[in-house]
Amino acid sequence: MNFLAKLSNQNLLNDVNLERTIIMSNMRIVGILVLTLVLISCKKKNIKENETIVPFDFLSGQTYKSLTIDLVFVEGFEPNSTAIANLEVFLEQRLNKPEGISIIQRGITSPEEETYSVQEIEAIEKDKRKNYTKKEELAAFIFYADADYVESGEDSKVLGIKYGPSSVALFKSSIDQFSGGIGQVSEVKLETTVLKHEFGHLMGLVNIGTDLVNTHEDSDHSGHCDNPDCLMYYATENSSFAELLLGEDIPDLDEQCIQDLQANGGK
Ligand SMILES: [Zn+2]
Ligand SMILES: [Zn+2]
Repeated sequence: MNFLAKLSNQNLLNDVNLERTIIMSNMRIVGILVLTLVLISCKKKNIKENETIVPFDFLSGQTYKSLTIDLVFVEGFEPNSTAIANLEVFLEQRLNKPEGISIIQRGITSPEEETYSVQEIEAIEKDKRKNYTKKEELAAFIFYADADYVESGEDSKVLGIKYGPSSVALFKSSIDQFSGGIGQVSEVKLETTVLKHEFGHLMGLVNIGTDLVNTHEDSDHSGHCDNPDCLMYYATENSSFAELLLGEDIPDLDEQCIQDLQANGGK
């Protein structure tokens, strides 16, 4: 029974009863406020839980049976659909996720940044990310930026970064600049390479959460493989690599990197 119904049902309403009804109604409002606060704090808790995600959670099916990837792109900088399909194939190859891997895409209007720092991307993630890891469902986040990474130079640009345990960003405008033109590598090839490379980092490659079986970490570029033909070679996330990709296949993981993944719960 709501407040108005209560009033009309009581013809001989005295002041005491009215006062009691108002107090009850106020209590209900307080109740709704408390519930809202609890819901907000749950959301925050999810972000915290997400920070404890480790590469093993991606690789193994022990804790998490499925993977949902939230992909947020700035309108006008949509992902290449073949590159996304290629990423899905790559993830199916390496991750034990018996209940499936899905990528959900959503466009946002441009935040109109001249460049992006990690802090700025984190703020966008906090605002726009909808899926967080829960129960047996692992979640990850990809942001497609419409401007360069803050550390990119004029000629040498960072094409992608892994900035959190389940978060990566692609600098789509930089990828566009170095692909698809005459004498340039195709967009599909470059975008697929960068996507796969950043997810390789989420899987703990090289030696960043997934231990080495044999020594193959590049001593000059930590977190990367020393094999120039491997997907996890340091240069693959930089624009200088785009030229080298011309006429080559999309790089894949070498034996050393695959061995590391398999020793940490991967396929
Ligand atoms: Zn890298
Ligand atoms: Zn490798």
